[in-house]
Amino acid sequence: VRKLDVMDGPPKNADESAAIIEELSQTFHVSLAQMKTISEQLKKEMQKGLNQEGATVAMIPTFVSGRPTGEEKGRYLALDLGGTFLRVCEVDLCGNKEFKIRQKKYKVPLSLKEGDFCDLCDFIAECLGSFIADLNPGGSILSTSSTHDHSTTTAGSSSSSSSSSSSSNDSTTNVNNNSNAAPSSHHESTVQPEQDKYQLGFTFSFPVFQTSINRGVLKQWTKGYSCTNSVHKDVVEMLQEAFLRKQVPVNIAAIVNDTVGTLMALAYSVPETAIGVILGTGTNACYYEQMKDIKKWDGGETATDEMVINTEWGAFDCERLCLPLTIHDRKVDRESLRPRQQMFEKMISGMYLGEISRNVILHLIDRHILFDGYSSNDLNKAYCFDTSYMSSIELDDTPDLQETRHILEDVLSIPSTSLTDRQLVKHVCKMVGLRAARLSACGLAAVLKQSNLVSAGCTIGIDGSLFEHYPDFESNMMQALKELFGPYIAYKVKLSLARDGSGLGAAIIAMLAHKNARRGDI
Ligand code: BGC
Ligand code: MG
Repeated sequence: VRKLDVMDGPPKNADESAAIIEELSQTFHVSLAQMKTISEQLKKEMQKGLNQEGATVAMIPTFVSGRPTGEEKGRYLALDLGGTFLRVCEVDLCGNKEFKIRQKKYKVPLSLKEGDFCDLCDFIAECLGSFIADLNPGGSILSTSSTHDHSTTTAGSSSSSSSSSSSSNDSTTNVNNNSNAAPSSHHESTVQPEQDKYQLGFTFSFPVFQTSINRGVLKQWTKGYSCTNSVHKDVVEMLQEAFLRKQVPVNIAAIVNDTVGTLMALAYSVPETAIGVILGTGTNACYYEQMKDIKKWDGGETATDEMVINTEWGAFDCERLCLPLTIHDRKVDRESLRPRQQMFEKMISGMYLGEISRNVILHLIDRHILFDGYSSNDLNKAYCFDTSYMSSIELDDTPDLQETRHILEDVLSIPSTSLTDRQLVKHVCKMVGLRAARLSACGLAAVLKQSNLVSAGCTIGIDGSLFEHYPDFESNMMQALKELFGPYIAYKVKLSLARDGSGLGAAIIAMLAHKNARRGDI
């Protein structure tokens, strides 16, 4: 008789299930020693990326330098193509750290995320076209000058900050700009004279190797995207061509990573902001680096001695040297669109946390520790266990975990769950979420050290659904930072939500790029 592999059999007693759960918890715990190793290794990889092209952590120069003053003025458009939504914004920079935003969100259909990139560009152009038509039903083209009366178009979400009045921050933001003309020169004679066009900042939340403020080729897709006809191509040029096809009178003045938009947006009202981070569907960070330390830079003279670097930290440790991968992470990675890429992102970001938890839950089902050993067709489907369910389950404080029961039984069709089942599912979510927060803190630690801001302190602008909504994510990150640096770090480093900041940030960058181009600063 073939001996049953003990790994597949049900536990013999309560002690054995407790031991299995304990072991699982251990594999998801990131100790202080591990956090130190991870942040040190990430810092090394960041330095490699600054020294040479082709490093795992790409460390992309963004052509944005200096800091906003809050006195920027004018009306600009911004597009934000993120992991889940396309946002179209009209931004009025009013000066005095004030601004108004009018925006519309469109869900990007799955078919476009996987189709020809030209189709996605056409979709973006159509959304933008209809947004502009709504702004301006008369059909004439609004001027983009800063003296424009904005009273008719400033409905919707507006936001402003008026804290520490700008005691004249004399540094100004620059965009280093080699070629700010419209990406395709043949556009210039069509549709609209250049100066009458809207100027737009395009937030594109994917790794782009930039060659100027509005030029850059897509390195690869990440998150749920896999459009054909786009990798290694200039995405600005392709989108600008779609604007031409759809007769949308807009010039793409800048391409902006979402982290950079977030950094700029918060810096507009909080000058101490030095780092921009996204903790959402994907994850990434940017920060100011000294030009002299960007050894691989060959973009010529720059007016300033620093530049924002888009780290693309999500790609960290594809070599698998130090991240504490479990069998569940390996499975999620193997079955993902791009195995062995974005390993750090796959352990942290909202796109994957639910899927990791689902795999752990299935494992516990197979060990007969959950749901009497039965899954459901729904729970068997990849990516059906949304990261937002984890949030709801973690927040569920009812004595019999009613919300957790609802998700498992009503949403995921598990026939019946015991309180013990629900408690264990909650425990799984907690350990996966906590691990993500501690790993994110390792990322912050590496960037803080690289930018020499540990003792000086700074504000970190953070956007993304995980940071905004996931229970205790922020406090868990801060706790990890305290373990790494000591309790005083909490007084030095401020984590600050910059909700939907990338639209505002992209508008600020578009304004500066456009101004430089007109001045002939190219
Ligand atoms: C992309 C980054 C982006 C991040 C957050 C990652 O997948 O590679 O460019 O900043 O997601 O949206
Ligand atoms: Mg986003």
